[in-house]
Amino acid sequence: MIDPFGRAVTYLRVSVTDRCDFRCVYCMAEDMTFLPKREVLSLEELDRLCTAFIEKGVRKLRLTGGEPLVRKNIMSLIRNLGRHLDSGALEELTITTNGSQLSRFANELYDCGVRRINVSIDTLDPQKFKTVTRWGDLAKVLDGVRAATAAGLKTKINMVALKDVNEHEIQPMLEWCHGEGHDLTLIETMPLGEIDGDRTDQYLPLSTVRSRLAERFTLTDIPYKTGGPARYVTIEETGGKLGFITPLTHNFCESCNRVRVTCTGQLYMCLGQDDMADLRAPLRASEGNEVLNDAIDEAIGRKPKGHDFVIDRDRNQPAVSRHMSVTGG
Ligand code: SAM
Ligand code: SF4
Repeated sequence: MIDPFGRAVTYLRVSVTDRCDFRCVYCMAEDMTFLPKREVLSLEELDRLCTAFIEKGVRKLRLTGGEPLVRKNIMSLIRNLGRHLDSGALEELTITTNGSQLSRFANELYDCGVRRINVSIDTLDPQKFKTVTRWGDLAKVLDGVRAATAAGLKTKINMVALKDVNEHEIQPMLEWCHGEGHDLTLIETMPLGEIDGDRTDQYLPLSTVRSRLAERFTLTDIPYKTGGPARYVTIEETGGKLGFITPLTHNFCESCNRVRVTCTGQLYMCLGQDDMADLRAPLRASEGNEVLNDAIDEAIGRKPKGHDFVIDRDRNQPAVSRHMSVTGG
């Protein structure tokens, strides 16, 4: 799959549910309305869809959400998708999770062929964790991370940098992550979906974070790539890696290799644009994949050059109306 700008699409992120057992303040409103179950693709349909993309050249597949591990029987999907690792068609099968269910599933994930996972943790302060996630329990998440490491899963921590909330915890988080052998990726807040607060209050440019860290640590840019949009540095003092995902201060679109599918089968060619293609109707239209494949090809032909996120006070509304939990980040 080559888009109009010559970029090969080899990375698919699939949101397997819009539901979640947390309500992170930057991601969801507390009182969220979730999709009726009939609108959500069944596990069999998700398998068919992912397989169609793999047959078209996707080499890396990430399951996300909402919280992927709260979807009923999700492990059966992961186990089935593992066959594409065995055949060599797929290079990597991975998930992004809030970690709440990891203690239960870590061993099984490894057994299904998963080798790396991303776990989102915004603070190591239990009280603040509760404030940020509204419903989360830090102790449970940290147990999950330990279980993942014990199971052999390489675990990267994702932290959304939030002004005034956790901006002074970035250094302790970095030291903790690298001490435990986890890489850390910092993410800027993105204006996706209505939340209860004001996003301009949460926005902390990572350029500021980086210069602050540079006063304490030696940061060296490295060309390391995980297939995602993060740019990495090594930290000489800790020996670990630190990634920055900066959609607002830096345009990462020129090397974009990915597309996203929501749990209802909508294909988004860009996280920051509203254009999408419905794949559920073609998927349900027939048992063969001809209609589906045509719909995918047509959509890839419309992948835009880049996004145009802006956070500003005059336009205090999300640049994109859907929540991150719908497209999965
Ligand atoms: N529930 C899982 C988790 O939290 O890791 C997977 C889905 S979550 C939507 C994926 C990632 O997106 C998480 O790292 C989360 O912190 C991040 N995220 C959610 N809303 C965001 C926003 N508005 N701006 C930036 N990152 C966001
Ligand atoms: Fe749930 Fe992840 Fe969104 Fe937090 S960031 S509410 S854990 S989907």
